[in-house]
Amino acid sequence: MTSRPGPTTSLRAWTRGSLLLLAFLVSFGCRATRAPARLEPIATPTEPAQHEPDVEPTPAWVGEPLSWEKLKAIETWLATQPTEGASFWRVEGELQLAQGRLEFARRDLGAKGGDTAGATKRVKSSRAGLERVAQDAYATEGQKKRAQDLVARADKLLDGKSATNANSLASVPVIGRAIWGAAPARGERMEPTKGGYKRITVHHSAEENAPELDGSIADSAAALRLMQRSHMESKSPRWGDIGYHFLIDPAGHVFQGRDLAWQGAHADGDNNIQNIGVCMIGNFDEEKPTKAALDSLRKLLDGLRRTYSIPKLAVCGHQDLKSTRCPGRFLEPWVKTYAR
Ligand SMILES: [Zn+2]
Repeated sequence: MTSRPGPTTSLRAWTRGSLLLLAFLVSFGCRATRAPARLEPIATPTEPAQHEPDVEPTPAWVGEPLSWEKLKAIETWLATQPTEGASFWRVEGELQLAQGRLEFARRDLGAKGGDTAGATKRVKSSRAGLERVAQDAYATEGQKKRAQDLVARADKLLDGKSATNANSLASVPVIGRAIWGAAPARGERMEPTKGGYKRITVHHSAEENAPELDGSIADSAAALRLMQRSHMESKSPRWGDIGYHFLIDPAGHVFQGRDLAWQGAHADGDNNIQNIGVCMIGNFDEEKPTKAALDSLRKLLDGLRRTYSIPKLAVCGHQDLKSTRCPGRFLEPWVKTYAR
C-alpha cells in the first residue's frame, strides 16, 4: 500500500495535536472540572476536517464518599449533561445516583419506626434507574453488571419484608416465598400499598388444566410457581408478581403470595385498593372446599382482621364485587356466613 503525502502529513499533525492536548490536560490535573479549551482545528486539505478525540473532563463528584451532598452534586451535574449518548461519566453519574439512593433507602428500611412506605417507594425508583443503566446502550459491560447486581439487591429489599408480614399473622403459619420458590417481584410494575387495608376478598383459583395436588408443600409450591409465572408473563400489561396476597391449598397450607407492601391484583382496578386478596386453590364451582382449607381460611381471615382492624362485614367473595362465578357456589355461602 503506497502512502500519499497529504494524509500522512495531516495524521502526523493530528498526532502532534493530540499530544499537545494531552499535555494541556495533564497540566490541569485529572480532576479538572471545566472543559479544556479547544485547540485550533488542524487543516487537512485533502480530507474533511477530522474531529478531535472527545475528551470528557472528570466530574467533581467522582471519588467522593457517599453522602446526600454527593447525590445532590451528581443530580445537578447530570442536569447539565445530554440525557443520552456516549458518555462514560453520564452513565456513571446515573449509576452512582441510583446506587446511593438505594443505599439510603436500605438504611431507612432497617431503621425502627422509619417511613417504610416512603423508603419502599425510593427502593422502587432507584431500581427503575438501575434498570435503565443496565439497558443503556452506552454503558460499559462493567457498569451494566454493577447495575444488574444492584437491581437484584433492590429486589431482595422489596421481597425481604415478607417475613415480617407473615410473622405478624400468628394465628396461622404462613409459608414464605423463599420456601415455595417465588420468583423475585418486579416492584416497578406494582403500586405500593397506601393507608393499610380495609377489606378482604376471597377467590378460588379455578385454573384451566388445574394441577392435581397431592397435599404436599412441594406439590403446591410447584403449582404456585406456575400461577406466578402466568400472572407475570401472560397478563397485559405484565403484573409485577402473583396477584393474590395469600393462597391456601386443599391440605390447608397457607402460602404468602404478593407482599402486603404492594397493592394486590385480584379484584379489577380500583377494587384492589386497600383490599387483601386471598385465593383458595381449586374450583369450588365444581367441588367442595376441604375442611382443612376452610379451617385455615378462617384462621387467616381472623388474623388479618385483627392485624388491620377489618370488620367481618368487609370480607366478601369476588362475586360481590363484580359479575363472576368466583369463588364458586360451594365457597361463596361460607364467605357470606363468615362475614355475618
Ligand atoms: Zn376471583
